[in-house]
Amino acid sequence: MAQVTCLGFPRIGRRRELKVALEKYWKGTLDAAALHEVARNLRQAHWQLQRATGADSIPVNDFSLYDTMLDTAWLFGAVPERYQQIAAADPLAGYFASARGYHADGHDLHALEMTKWFDTNYHYIVPELRRGQIFALSGDKPIAEFLEAKALGLAARPVLPGPVTFLLLAKCVDGSNRFDLLDGLVGAYADLLGKLHDAGAEWVQLDEPCLALDLDDATRAAYRRAYAALAQARGPRRLLATYFGPLDDNLATAAALPVDGLHVDLVRAPDQLDAVLDALPAERVLSLGVVDGRNVWRSDLDTALAFARRAAKRRGGDQLWLAPSCSLLHVPYDAADEDALQPDIRGWLAFARQKLEELRVLADALAGDTAARAAIAAARAALAQRRSSRLAVNRAVRQRIDAVTPEMSRRHSTYPERHRQQVAALHLPLLPTTTIGSFPQTHAVRQARAAHRSGKLGDAEYRKFLEAETGRAVREQEQLGLDVLVHGEFERNDMVEYFGEQLDGFTFTRHGWVQSYGSRCVKPPIIYGDVARPHAMTVDWLRYAQSLTDKPMKGMLTGPVTILKWSFVRDDQPLAATCRQLALALRDEVCDLEAAGIRIIQIDEPAFREALPLRRSERKAYLAWAVACFRLAVSGVRDATQIHTHMCYSEFGDIIEAVAAMDADVISMETSRSRMELLDAFAQFHYPNEIGPGVYDIHSPRVPEVAEMTDLLQRARKVLQPQQIWVNPDCGLKTRDWPEVKAALGRMVEAARAMRAEVAGAA
Ligand code: GLN
Ligand code: ZN
Repeated sequence: MAQVTCLGFPRIGRRRELKVALEKYWKGTLDAAALHEVARNLRQAHWQLQRATGADSIPVNDFSLYDTMLDTAWLFGAVPERYQQIAAADPLAGYFASARGYHADGHDLHALEMTKWFDTNYHYIVPELRRGQIFALSGDKPIAEFLEAKALGLAARPVLPGPVTFLLLAKCVDGSNRFDLLDGLVGAYADLLGKLHDAGAEWVQLDEPCLALDLDDATRAAYRRAYAALAQARGPRRLLATYFGPLDDNLATAAALPVDGLHVDLVRAPDQLDAVLDALPAERVLSLGVVDGRNVWRSDLDTALAFARRAAKRRGGDQLWLAPSCSLLHVPYDAADEDALQPDIRGWLAFARQKLEELRVLADALAGDTAARAAIAAARAALAQRRSSRLAVNRAVRQRIDAVTPEMSRRHSTYPERHRQQVAALHLPLLPTTTIGSFPQTHAVRQARAAHRSGKLGDAEYRKFLEAETGRAVREQEQLGLDVLVHGEFERNDMVEYFGEQLDGFTFTRHGWVQSYGSRCVKPPIIYGDVARPHAMTVDWLRYAQSLTDKPMKGMLTGPVTILKWSFVRDDQPLAATCRQLALALRDEVCDLEAAGIRIIQIDEPAFREALPLRRSERKAYLAWAVACFRLAVSGVRDATQIHTHMCYSEFGDIIEAVAAMDADVISMETSRSRMELLDAFAQFHYPNEIGPGVYDIHSPRVPEVAEMTDLLQRARKVLQPQQIWVNPDCGLKTRDWPEVKAALGRMVEAARAMRAEVAGAA
């Protein structure tokens, strides 16, 4: 009999109970004991739910008060001394200090760095290691959670990041070789395994998603060394979990590691099943990830069952587990809560709970159960209904897509000619100043939006309020002396949601929250059908803002790749096809803005880089369609209309040619925190168009000195021509408050003026 399991479950809670409790605790209105109680109740509710939906075994230690990579660092004592000191007096305070920073009692500690978990929108805390790092089992979280589940009579499997993935994702802050630390780390894991064994654990799950990346020989050797050493230790049986892609050239390594089971992702990598069946020794458990842990659609159970049958035939059912492709952390809790959705669409969805139900059905069907066969037939019918539904299809969109020609992705003239016309049309000074789009989303702005949403504030009053905010932003920018103004984005809740709500083919859930980091959650839109723009989305606001000033007002849109990446996407057509539809909708908006007299239009693509595939072999194809979509969106305008784009980072090393191929007239990006990186990439690659290297960090309330900004501009001048340089902050200003913004932008304008004088003097 095949067994059903889960690799990890969403921990934030059906109604984000963990978020609420954490934020109360941080504010001081909930004590530690009460926070722990909320956490325990959530864990137990989630375990019981998994049990009730038919999971034969469940993961534990997938729960965390902040992040499981961080938990693992604490578990093995691999946390910088500065946080340990705080933890000595108050463990929870020390833990949250490492997650969020600590500014009290004479301490002024930054948080540990945070970064994206592979290609998901979840962010993990990056453990900070140094030469000679000692690893020693310093906590008992996995053991305690195992015992907690055991006391409830549950078959629990503690989950941890595997030692090699942990090490690869950590940062050696002194530049030392991480693999020097491997043996020590593995020793600490071995201690833990022994303790888990003593506690009665039969299995432990070691997550090694790095096995789905391009690895070099040294890393493969590290895998062999680590797992050979662990095999010597007493402990539960080991499940090695891989996900987010095919094992490919790492399959031989993974299959040869001395473990007791291997989990593979058959959603991202359906083609690897036969190779895995060939490679994996017969006595190992094989866990098949057949239900998508990264998306919200009901599974094609026939395909999943066929996989399971193929595996069962080769290996027998006893050594077979059925599981989601990866942890369910990346999907919302329960689609049954979405009673406000259009019923058809709701019937197409499967969130965490439904995914476990699907797995139960699959396992039962594999065992020949008739009720399960009926459930499979029902799923088949739902899928057929979705495939043939008119909701998902828009003929006009399809026809337009078919009629797209290569010329539509090309501006009329090349950049030098456009530049000439834009200089003549815009009358901007050298080193023009601008901002990235948003101005402070104050309490008043958020309050008005909430009141409008709930119906307490009427449309006309809300509009008036937003006009007043926009007017104020325009006046402030004029007073500051900025050259290219923005309207401030006060009408926008979120840079994707705002557009999704106005486009056909999108729907929104009420409770479809997914953890982004710590207590922060996002509620991604769901793209279920062909994307079309029934009406202009931003033109009224831009026209209004432009009417208030003679300075150029920059139109502000979110780009196709970013909308795609920050939504749940349809799985019935390639990503590129959905992206092209988004691009066409945005193209209409760009043209309408131009027709309304907007002479500069910015298309933000902060997710352009994060959408890059994990494997190098797939990147070229991605970059080709992503660049083409951006160009399709922006190329409908006249040469004199200036197109900007914005990206929130400057690690362009591996994508700089694609960024240049986007052929935006101006690109702005983050550079103040990473000043050298811009120089590296741009010194080697002669970037042809204009660039706004962010001169101050908007993530911090600190107002920089003029000299810091002129210094950065001087560095930029070393690799760029003065005619190429724009002066702007790193990103939008929505998280800041007005006094900070005014002070910082005032100094930024001063820095730009100083640089202009210097350039004029040098000429
Ligand atoms: N225009 C957006 C803003 O200013 C850009 C945000 C982003 O790139 N993340 O807020
Ligand atoms: Zn940004």
